[in-house]
Parts: sequence; C-alpha cells; structure tokens
Amino acid sequence: MELHKFHVLLAMVFVLFLVPVVHGWGLDGHYSVCKIAQSRLSKAAAKAVEELLPHSANGDLASVCIWADRVKFRYHWSSPLHYIDTPDKLCTYRYSRDCKDEDGVADRCVAGAINNYTNQLLTYNKGSGQASTYNLTEALLFLSHFIGDIHQPLHVGFTSDRGGNTIDVHWYRRKAVLHHVWDTNIIETAEERYDDSNVDELVDALQKNITTGWADQVDSWESCSGNMTACPDIYASEGIKAACDWAYKGVTEDSTLEDDYFLTRYPIVQWRLAQGGVRLAATLNRIFE
Ligand SMILES: [Zn+2]
Repeated sequence: MELHKFHVLLAMVFVLFLVPVVHGWGLDGHYSVCKIAQSRLSKAAAKAVEELLPHSANGDLASVCIWADRVKFRYHWSSPLHYIDTPDKLCTYRYSRDCKDEDGVADRCVAGAINNYTNQLLTYNKGSGQASTYNLTEALLFLSHFIGDIHQPLHVGFTSDRGGNTIDVHWYRRKAVLHHVWDTNIIETAEERYDDSNVDELVDALQKNITTGWADQVDSWESCSGNMTACPDIYASEGIKAACDWAYKGVTEDSTLEDDYFLTRYPIVQWRLAQGGVRLAATLNRIFE
C-alpha cells in the first residue's frame, strides 16, 4: 500500500514536470481564428492553402490550427516562438529589444516567427513545378497558429511572470493561472453561456460582428504599412497594451476572477480573435496574390 502511494506520488511529480506550459489560445481560440481566416481568402490564396494543407485536414485549416502546440516536444526549438516577453510594467514592445529567446538569440519570438514563415511561404511558386527548399505545409501551419497566438494579449506579456503563467488566480471557483484564463477559461465560459458550448456558434457570432459592429475597423486591421507582407509588430504592440489595460489590470496573486472580470474582458477576447482571423487572411492573401 505504501509502495503504491509512493508510485502514485512519483507519477504526479512526473506529470507536474512534464506538462508543458501552454502558450497560446486554446483549441477553440485557434480554431476560431483559422475558421474566420479561411472564409476570407482570395481565390489564389484559397487554392494555395488547399494545396499545402495536409490530407488529414480535409481542406479545413481550422482543424490543424492547433498543430504547432502539439509539436512542441518533437520540435523543441519551436517553443519560444509562441510568445514575446517584454520588460516588466513597461507596457511597450520593441522588436529589437524584445524579440529574442531566453538565451538572448535574436528573432526567436512570435513576431520573428511570423516574419520567417511569411518569407518561407513567399517561395511558393504556383504551378511552376519547382519545389521550395522549405516545408511549406509546416510553414502554413506555423504561420496560421502564430498569428493567432500574437493576438492573445498575454502572449506579449511581462518577463518575470512569463505572460501571466506564474500568477495563480481563481476562475470563479476553480484554480487557474492568469495566462490560462486568457487562453481558454474566458472562451469556455462564454461558450457555456452564449453558444450552447459550441465553437461554431462562437465563430458565427464573431463573423457577424466583423460585418456589422466592427465593419468600419476591418480595413485598418488588414492594412500593413508600406509594401510589407506581414505586420507582427503592430499586433505585438497592441497585445502588450491590451495585456496591461485588461489582462493584468486589477489582478494580483490569488485574485478571484468572476463576472466583473469576465463581462469586461470577453469583448476584448472576441475583438482579438476577430482581428487574428481577419489579419491571417489578409497576410495569406498578400503572400499568395
Ligand atoms: Zn501557441
């Protein structure tokens, strides 16, 4: 019996150390971003995406949008590419200062990854029969995931709390960390309350807002300065601002977050998911035009 307990304890310790810190919207957040994006693709981009998607996706980008989170163990090098750590309390982002991994290697952050996979996809040459030197299927899946991630406010968070990963809170009566509240809990609670726990209803509601309430903002969401193909720095600057104004605001260790927080933050989550989807489509349209 004692031995059995010891084994259980050992197993728990293992699990604690093996479960990776999750970086990024959860499954439904990424699904929504990609679902919105695919519905807005130009003819050329839709065709390229269809060609590049793995067969298992059945032509549905949203079904593989979470892939980059699933390969973090296999592609260990990819885990710093899901986020950006910015200086504590500063609430600003600068590429040259902040886009690096923990070892200080430049460009290894979500903004650098978006630029990198955009450049890889630009080597896609429709119908030329010439193969790219890159794995463009993976490039497409990474880009689609990372444009989602960079829109999660706490993906551009403070360094010392690892984007809210070390801030313990209660989400209503359950224990959670602040980062996870923004990845998953807010969306789940919204789905339970408003969408019959159905992600497609969440997507429909976002699509409706894009064509009505937010319609006059969509052009500015899509635009990318000069003749750039990808604009991650704009998204990252907005991200840290939203993190300060909404995600971190009023939260301390052990805060209980409930309706006050949920009702004021869910609109921010909706707005960022919609922006992520619109901008992923705009980026893919520029790449494959
Ligand atoms: Zn991620």
